[in-house]
Amino acid sequence: MLWPGIKKLGKELNFERTDSEAAGMLKNCFVKLYDGQNIKVLEIYVPNIDADDKNVNIKIIESNNIKKYEWLANGIKIIFQELIRPYPIKNIKKILEEITGYFSNKYTFQAIQCQYCGQQDGTEMFGINNVSMLTCNDCYRQIEKNIQNENMDIKNTQGNYFLGFIGAILFSIPGILAAIIFFVFLNRLAAFSALIYILLGMIGYKKFKGKISLGGAAVVIGAGLLMVGVGTVIAYSANILFLLYKELGEINFEAMFYILEIPEVQGEIRTNLLLSYVISCLFFVFQINSMLKDWKNQKIIKKLREIK
Ligand SMILES: [Zn+2]
Repeated sequence: MLWPGIKKLGKELNFERTDSEAAGMLKNCFVKLYDGQNIKVLEIYVPNIDADDKNVNIKIIESNNIKKYEWLANGIKIIFQELIRPYPIKNIKKILEEITGYFSNKYTFQAIQCQYCGQQDGTEMFGINNVSMLTCNDCYRQIEKNIQNENMDIKNTQGNYFLGFIGAILFSIPGILAAIIFFVFLNRLAAFSALIYILLGMIGYKKFKGKISLGGAAVVIGAGLLMVGVGTVIAYSANILFLLYKELGEINFEAMFYILEIPEVQGEIRTNLLLSYVISCLFFVFQINSMLKDWKNQKIIKKLREIK
């Protein structure tokens, strides 16, 4: 997302945009602007930078009261911290003009280089997954080809639902421990351990190379639902065993099974199961979107677009 401040400045400077960055050429520099967590970031890529240039730029930065910056391979990254109010755009514009002014004066006849091969001719801007960059035509074509191949590889990866399912189950077993701790030691509903089954299940599914697809998401959820049921019953039984132990001073499975037969106890287990399923279903709805998005995450390369 491009927030209004950066959008406005980008438009003013005739920059273009990806979903999250404004980028463009200013004098003989390539400039990027984007928002972060309580920060705005300005990256300036310059034709050349040596130790003298760095010293001059440190002075410019410090005279503008900015404390956070880092050197890039061929440029500088400045971080504007925002505590409560957004950082004033006009200050960003001022420092941007000072720095690009300095470099265009000093390296008047040098153009900005391709960020991959260093060539100066015919560079153009584009974005890979919303990260904007500047390359020559040859590099653009090469990157485009590599991305196509990478995406093909992801698509053709052979995954297996069954192995994925086994992985999801195995990895979510520690979730049962969490359920037992909830029940026995904290005396709380174990329903929230459902979330643990799903998170662990997702990891297990990936580790066991489950096929990455909509079906895969369904397998992870299926394994999660199974574990919710099994985990709730096991945790509840462990709780009874524990209470019996406190009463009788021994672990008595026979008494545990006897108690599990009592209608009130069964009712309580059913209530717990129901709650666990309600919570896990809510979580699934919430989770499935990000799961699919994460899994489908193919690289996309495209030209920047106009800031409207
Ligand atoms: Zn290049």
